Amino acid sequence: MAAPITTVSDSKERQGLNLIAAHSHIRGLGIDANTLTPRPTSDGLVGQQKARKAASVILQMVKEGKIAGRAVLISGPPSTGKTAIAIGMSKGLGEDTPFTMLASSEIFSLEMSKTEALEQAFRKSIGVRIREESEVIEGEVVEIQIDRSVTGNNKSGKLTLKTTDMETLYDMGTRMIDSMTKEKVMAGDIISIDKASGRITKLGRSYTRSRDYDAMGPDTKFVQCPDGELQVRRETVHTVSLHEIDVINSRTQGFLALFSGDTGEIRSEVREQINTKVAEWREEGKAEIVPGVLFIDEVHMLDIECFSFINRALEDELAPIVIMASNRGSTTIRGTSYRSPHGLPLDFLDRVVIISTQPYPEDEIREIISIRAQEEEIDMTPNALALLTKFGAEAGLRYASNLITTSHLLAAKRKAKEVDAQDVQRSYQLFYDPSRSAKFVSEFEKRFIG
Ligand code: ATP
Repeated sequence: MAAPITTVSDSKERQGLNLIAAHSHIRGLGIDANTLTPRPTSDGLVGQQKARKAASVILQMVKEGKIAGRAVLISGPPSTGKTAIAIGMSKGLGEDTPFTMLASSEIFSLEMSKTEALEQAFRKSIGVRIREESEVIEGEVVEIQIDRSVTGNNKSGKLTLKTTDMETLYDMGTRMIDSMTKEKVMAGDIISIDKASGRITKLGRSYTRSRDYDAMGPDTKFVQCPDGELQVRRETVHTVSLHEIDVINSRTQGFLALFSGDTGEIRSEVREQINTKVAEWREEGKAEIVPGVLFIDEVHMLDIECFSFINRALEDELAPIVIMASNRGSTTIRGTSYRSPHGLPLDFLDRVVIISTQPYPEDEIREIISIRAQEEEIDMTPNALALLTKFGAEAGLRYASNLITTSHLLAAKRKAKEVDAQDVQRSYQLFYDPSRSAKFVSEFEKRFIG
């Protein structure tokens, strides 16, 4: 089986970069660890305390493994922080927890069936934390001979390494730069080389040797081999999603599909093989499952077939936490003629825990807008902030958030350091919010048709 090459955090960056960027200021749920209550403003989240408290209770259940087979629905008017709270929850689960965002309309594509798209979203949300041990060679660089035919930063050459503990000499043709810092390796540096990948890590200079050994960390082990040789082994841990493993091992796709995002349908045999392999790794203690979060926005757009798929998928041993959001009240379940709360079938609603978000008072809108401006490193005058708050209250936070960016561009054009009310006003005239835009079009139509 090929080695997984991407990490969950890589894939997080690729998936829905824009969707995530609007929430880059959110770092958690902002819960006080002692009282277990949400602080008014914390971790980038403002207000919405009841919903945040409920979300933190669910997070606790998730951590204790008590939420199997259930899903969470965050319901509330548009722009009231449903996505923001879901992201806050995922941050509370830990750095390598996969978080997948799916807008329900995305699954209606010509490239793959609805259920395949859902299956991929589920598998993107399950991480596999894999431990790998690799042999490293370590020692002091005593000599570097540069092969004159190669130049540039990636210069390869002959590196003679005097290993400190093993008393052996090691020559290898390799890139003579530190794999993390990209610094050049020089004679006198203490370095380690991962034998499998050829990756170099600088541990320090020879005169700081005692510190270098501390810097090696607890994941480094010395192993005495049967032939008496002493080996340095380092354990590396990385997390990849089940979907990434599927794609890499799918013969028709190949790992390049991961970069293009064009993965097509994956055969069920491939998935079965991967599940068996992962179960083996778990048994051998080489891997652990990290259940992530699958966030399904506009869930009322899904149809009855999708709901029955999700219902079944939640029963699976390898299910992520499914968080859904809807800004609809009672509506028709797509694919049927029945109405139900949020357009969810009643048997599905039975296993859903509901959190509700409320519209924001003006002072909280102001606070959120100023946090967004800080996040984008934009300075604004109090008048600009007041006007943005007014527009945010009328047309929603997302619209106001977009106006911050456009107003900043207008301010930069007149060479001003701060965004002023005039920039916000001009942005408001140039860029319409959905309700003004719809009103304008319908009035325009009336002039011709009426
Ligand atoms: P929709 O129903 O339209 O999908 P939503 O309820 O998911 O909307 P968000 O997208 O979460 O709303 O919110 C809009 C913007 O406001 C985002 O940039 C979000 O990060 C920010 N935001 C919303 N609520 C909060 C909050 N309580 N604290 C900080 N930022 C917030």
